[in-house]
Amino acid sequence: MQSTADVAILGAGPAAIAAACALRRLGHSVVLVGRSRTAAVEGMSERTLTLLRQNGLEAAARTVRGAVERTGTWAGEAVAGGAEYIVDRAELDAALLTDAHCAAVSIRAERALGYQSRGALWTVRTESGELHCQTLIDARGRRAQRPVRRGPELIAICQRFRLQDANCSFTRLEATAHGWCWLAVHRGMGWLQVMTSRKAPSLRLGLRQHLAAFLAQTPQMAALLCGALPLGEPVARAATATLSAELRRCGAQRLGDAAAALDPLSGQGVYEALRGAHIATAAAHTYLRTRQWEPIGQFLSERMSELWERRNATAALHYQRQAQRTPTEFWSVAAAQYPALDPAHARASEATSLAWRPVLNGMCIEQRRVLVTPRFPRGVWQLEDVDLPELIELLNTTGGDIACASRHLSRPPQMVVRAVQWLRAQGLRVAPDAPPPAAGNGIGAPI
Ligand SMILES: Cc1cc2nc3c(=O)[nH]c(=O)nc-3n(C[C@H](O)[C@H](O)[C@H](O)COP(=O)(O)OP(=O)(O)OC[C@H]3O[C@@H](n4cnc5c(N)ncnc54)[C@H](O)[C@@H]3O)c2cc1C
Repeated sequence: MQSTADVAILGAGPAAIAAACALRRLGHSVVLVGRSRTAAVEGMSERTLTLLRQNGLEAAARTVRGAVERTGTWAGEAVAGGAEYIVDRAELDAALLTDAHCAAVSIRAERALGYQSRGALWTVRTESGELHCQTLIDARGRRAQRPVRRGPELIAICQRFRLQDANCSFTRLEATAHGWCWLAVHRGMGWLQVMTSRKAPSLRLGLRQHLAAFLAQTPQMAALLCGALPLGEPVARAATATLSAELRRCGAQRLGDAAAALDPLSGQGVYEALRGAHIATAAAHTYLRTRQWEPIGQFLSERMSELWERRNATAALHYQRQAQRTPTEFWSVAAAQYPALDPAHARASEATSLAWRPVLNGMCIEQRRVLVTPRFPRGVWQLEDVDLPELIELLNTTGGDIACASRHLSRPPQMVVRAVQWLRAQGLRVAPDAPPPAAGNGIGAPI
């Protein structure tokens, strides 16, 4: 069994396997240490399915069922109709391992017990021994976290069912006075997920009784499950949104739920795990080439803070809407907790300026000059293929001459015009019909 590798990846979920396959495709030796164990059914959007395919995770994509009709009520209003895919996580995770095999990832189907750095190398302790690597990705899910921020304390109790109508397929979301629930049905097989506070009194009665008590609050959901046969025992899943402490150590990073586990209401956990895998791949690839961790660590840290704030802001809106309709303890506490996590969105006051920041360029993380705006506090360095700081400077020095900027940047004038329109939409006074911003306000000033 391989005991040294360029990259060790801990975990066997979507984040770990997407990163492992991508790093293999870039030519790195990869050892994945993980055993999958998620027994659940989850919903997926079209864009998550697209990402699975774009990551070459074809076996995994084939396990996705649907799309099925999505309905429900939230804050007393019908949930905007649409479609949702359904995935059985045991099937998905088994297929992910098939994809990893096909990508020639070396797999150790065992638990990782811990890791530490020794000089320039990392040592991973596993159930069967040690593994040495140059860079490490911890993608062991939410349980591997050391949380520093927490959303409302939530727990999901889930039950599988067989419905009487073997042909029906749909998903439904319902908010009640004391929580929310999601039912996914595909060809008569159902999965009910009931989300409440971890302190809900009915939990003390036992999981079955808790489900029954919850269904009594939602006649629509109870009617859909009328005559359905429960299969197996209910299971509990920790569901509190949590942000982990950063590793802050050269060459090691957390990925997916191990970095930030989002509120399941977002339904985008797998999507963010796959998107994060792309960034983690670029980070490991860049580190193996440059041996410089500082810009990579800064990039990962800023991106994670932004993701956490953005997703919590969305969750806060949903919880606040429902809290206005049913101001019970559950909704009031949840609605108050999310905004409190990111007080006043401190960074939103960031002034518009040019700055050097680490950015993702293809599969490399590198320092670039970026345009920082209140809306884009991490900065934007290019639009389509136009370097924005360079464009701003050209517009400054030529009095807003688009043709001249187009020639200097070797980009078609239409592309430059679109970039200029975008800059103006951000509130920047740039060409064509506005004077260039004065030097000294940050824009166009020498960097
Ligand atoms: C109740 C609930 C409902 C959700 N519903 C949805 C939904 O509908 N749609 C959606 O997109 N997302 C949903 N999510 C979120 C989604 O499950 C996660 O965001 C996603 O699975 C994250 O992927 P990951 O690879 O980071 O972690 P995981 O999928 O958790 O994978 C971690 C892997 O690491 C393995 N592992 C753990 N410890 C060790 C160890 N010591 N050594 C080796 N391996 C280890 C685990 O067995 C697992 O295979 C939900 C989450 C919850 C809690």
